[in-house]
Amino acid sequence: MKIGLFFGSFNPVHTGHMIIANYMASQTDINEVWLVVSPQNPLKPKVTLAKDYDRLHLVQLAIGGNPHLRASNVEFGLPKPSFTIDTLAFLKEKYPGREFALIMGGDNLATLYKWKNYEMILRDYEIYVYRRPEHALGGLENHPHVRLFEVPMLNISATYIRRCLSEGKSVQYLVPDAVFQYLEESTLYRASAGIPQLKKSPGQ
Ligand code: ATP
Repeated sequence: MKIGLFFGSFNPVHTGHMIIANYMASQTDINEVWLVVSPQNPLKPKVTLAKDYDRLHLVQLAIGGNPHLRASNVEFGLPKPSFTIDTLAFLKEKYPGREFALIMGGDNLATLYKWKNYEMILRDYEIYVYRRPEHALGGLENHPHVRLFEVPMLNISATYIRRCLSEGKSVQYLVPDAVFQYLEESTLYRASAGIPQLKKSPGQ
């Protein structure tokens, strides 16, 4: 059983994330994709980051009944800030029968050399990389454990979703429907969260 780990702050999860997760679970040899929600890093400012369990809940809503996707809070209980190599070691020990692989965008592959013990990650785990237009891959794409995929991309970010919400604009279709419904009835990411407003051009 091969599990693909897709790490992110998912603040909030959006359709761009779900397209990647579903592609990897349905069009590669990965059996399950776990969306691993990164906890608040105590060293980073938290002004725009929703609470860990709110973000996890939104990922659960996004997944709904899809049996090939799973929301993971594994890093909530690990020392912070979490390092991928430590999370992988923890998971390997907890689930000895499973094989873990990483899922990341080409932009992340390009900076992988900065990660703690990245040579060990590359040696011991496969990395499923989806190309991101306008981002160079950096050279590690030739490593035998790196597998490259062309996935149709949606050009949106969680930052954009948060800005829309803080301005009272609709994020329907940009996030899975259950996430949209939940956010409509919630104060998450609304203007009171202190998120900078999008600049308006003169005359608006
Ligand atoms: P933010 O705008 O807050 O930085 P984000 O949308 O980039 O957030 P993350 O939680 O950082 O979301 O994303 C998790 C992973 O998903 C990252 O590796 C990121 O590169 C990737 N990702 C983000 N947006 C997209 C997208 N539209 N399509 C594919 N991958 C994406």
